[in-house]
Amino acid sequence: PVILAIESSCDDTSAAVLVGGEIRSNVVATQQVHEQYGGVVPELASRAHQQHLIPVVEAALQKAGIRKQDLDAVAFTQGPGLLGSLLVGGMFAKTLALALGKPLIAVNHMRAHILAHFIDAPRPVFPFLCLTVSGGHTQLVVVRSALDMEIIGQTIDDAAGEAFDKTAKLLGLPYPGGPHLDKLAREGNSTRFPFPVGAMPGYDFSFSGLKTAVLYFLKKETAQNPNFIQENLPDLCASIQHTIIQTLLRQLRRAAHDQGLAQIALAGGVAANSGLRQALQDEATTQGWQVFIPAFQYCTDNAGMVAMTAQFQYEAGDFADQLVSSDPRLKLA
Ligand code: ATP
Ligand code: FE
Repeated sequence: PVILAIESSCDDTSAAVLVGGEIRSNVVATQQVHEQYGGVVPELASRAHQQHLIPVVEAALQKAGIRKQDLDAVAFTQGPGLLGSLLVGGMFAKTLALALGKPLIAVNHMRAHILAHFIDAPRPVFPFLCLTVSGGHTQLVVVRSALDMEIIGQTIDDAAGEAFDKTAKLLGLPYPGGPHLDKLAREGNSTRFPFPVGAMPGYDFSFSGLKTAVLYFLKKETAQNPNFIQENLPDLCASIQHTIIQTLLRQLRRAAHDQGLAQIALAGGVAANSGLRQALQDEATTQGWQVFIPAFQYCTDNAGMVAMTAQFQYEAGDFADQLVSSDPRLKLA
């Protein structure tokens, strides 16, 4: 099928066109306005989506060489995400589907992060284990099929991306801090400052202890030496990143072992982290895992992954009607 997908769950406006399983275009407009506030401002995000949506959709159609009449379905992100942001994309998709007389497909954003693995080869084979690490979620998911997924573990407090961003903020790095911390960590010694690895029973995660430990450690050190952060920045970044990675790997290892799964997929924006990618590859060698990581453009928020998910739903006849509502807390299963 030919599918137009729209993603507007947070602060990126994106539209993609999929033709017969292939992503023909994937256009993303990133919102810069939030940088000065050190975090996403929901009111500003929904307003920026209103400005970006039409140009982004036009660009995606044009790049794909597809006219609106050629579409077989219009898909959009139903949730989870920011309500105001979701509503802008949802309203647009509903209106377009109605005007064109085409079916509408409502997509779960967290399923889409996982199904991004089916855009390009090498693709995992069902069932596999997916570790989704994004700005708002940290989930271990057993993926039995495109439509059958089960969360076996998740964070009880901060998401992995939040752990990166909040600790980066304590170090005075710009928002979002994850990529900055990653870059600085490459030059640092990861065992110099030992921080606590959040150890939860089962497969759950906890990152708030790390944030608190870093806060108190920095308070103590800067009281004696006001330049402590500047003088030790790479080692601090490397040590924090190492702790986050160990926290993730600990549960991933346990889950893979217990579930008897050796295909491990990584999803979400934190999958861009170079330390995590390397650690996962190393772990794969030791454990005999086969590791899957999507191309960077399909890890962070994008409509390509929404289009891919919509195609699975299209084939299963899973369509939405005009009464479908955006759901900021939509559950994965
Ligand atoms: P959700 O999908 O849970 O609603 P989101 O879509 O906003 O959240 P993503 O776009 O998937 O989140 O990921 C953004 C997060 O990824 C941010 O927290 C950002 O700091 C983090 N991130 C991006 N690149 C890196 C990197 N190289 N190292 C560490 N973190 C990174
Ligand atoms: Fe996301």
